Amino acid sequence: MQILENHSLASHTTMGIGGIARKYIEASSAQELSDALAIAKNEALPVFILGEGSNVLIDSKGFSGIVIHPAMRNVEWQPQADGSTWVTADAGVPFDEIAAEACRRNLGGIESLSGIPGSVGGSLVQNIGAYGQEISEVFVSAQAVHCRDCDSLTLKPSNLEFAYRHTALKTPENPFIVTSVTMRLYPYDADKAIARCAAHGFKKIALSKPQTAAALREIVLETRRSKAMCYDRNDVNTHSVGSFFVNPVVPGEDAQRINAASIIKNHKPMPSFPAENGKTKLSAAWLIEQAGFNKGYSLRGAALSDYHCLAIVNRLNATSDDVIALAQDIITRVYLQFRVELQPEVVYLSQNGITALPCSAKDAEVHGAPLRPNPLFL
Ligand SMILES: Cc1cc2nc3c(=O)[nH]c(=O)nc-3n(C[C@H](O)[C@H](O)[C@H](O)COP(=O)(O)OP(=O)(O)OC[C@H]3O[C@@H](n4cnc5c(N)ncnc54)[C@H](O)[C@@H]3O)c2cc1C
Repeated sequence: MQILENHSLASHTTMGIGGIARKYIEASSAQELSDALAIAKNEALPVFILGEGSNVLIDSKGFSGIVIHPAMRNVEWQPQADGSTWVTADAGVPFDEIAAEACRRNLGGIESLSGIPGSVGGSLVQNIGAYGQEISEVFVSAQAVHCRDCDSLTLKPSNLEFAYRHTALKTPENPFIVTSVTMRLYPYDADKAIARCAAHGFKKIALSKPQTAAALREIVLETRRSKAMCYDRNDVNTHSVGSFFVNPVVPGEDAQRINAASIIKNHKPMPSFPAENGKTKLSAAWLIEQAGFNKGYSLRGAALSDYHCLAIVNRLNATSDDVIALAQDIITRVYLQFRVELQPEVVYLSQNGITALPCSAKDAEVHGAPLRPNPLFL
């Protein structure tokens, strides 16, 4: 097991941002994971688990603890008597390797999640989703260990409190390290997949009606690439965490108010989706654009992607503070326009551990909101 002392974290994240960690350990087996946790305990260091770093913003000032990267990479495919196939993948396996192999086997369940960067472990923590599919829908169980004593346990769906881009594991207090995840996949059902994509406004799928999971995957990948939503080391527009904010879910009255204003201003309704308890899910990207941000807008080293208003990218040697300043700018102006507070999707690792991203609508006044509220949207 290699232990790297005072190791820079920037190259371990898709944003390419992050200072120095006291220690960085890659754990390639259960034993190495247990050894790494023992070191943290002996030295009384806080622990942060880092997957592929595609959903974290790491403080440029660094992290005064130990970063453990689960690198276990075993995968097992087990056909079941009921026609389904269970796949059990170690936490360190890139999720897209599983999605690609599932599509090759013409299995359905995660085909729309093709091209999402990140590890299997991180994907579960975040309950990844795209085009109407979420990992929660195929999740059977996960193996995990407790950070304190390395005791292993099985996590079932009822333990995880799955919600939109959220699980019980995505909290600063989470003591569990996911070591493997089991998912249940079924033979690809073209009609079901096409109907789901159509319901989520994915017109290309609705039109081309892919008859195999592999064909659907290709369209998803092509679409994601056109929006710089597949990570590419050589393309700065992908040096993001994907969507920086979650799509806000608001009460019906708020949605009606904003929609009425959209019809007056844009002569068309705003994009929206029904959500739980009669609420409405708004498009964060639309709110950001309507608040006056263009694709490519930049602030210091950070910028919006040239292809997607919801992705903040490291355009030019950005620091975490640059990203936070741009996020605050966006939160402030969206709040002033719509009275809707955007919530970050990204996990923020500060010097002392995971904390809330230090920006919010409450900080708007402190940061001196530069724009007058647009009366159309009030
Ligand atoms: C270009 C781009 C496009 C994206 N598109 C999407 C998308 O369409 N949909 C979507 O949902 N997401 C998307 N994302 C976000 C990201 O890819 C996912 O959230 C991904 O699953 C994160 O996995 P990771 O391994 O990189 O996790 P990390 O970023 O390394 O970690 C994220 C969190 O999970 C925790 N964690 C990681 N591994 C473990 C483990 N084994 N045990 C316990 N905790 C762990 C970390 O401590 C951290 O809190 C995108 C990101 C990028 C860069």
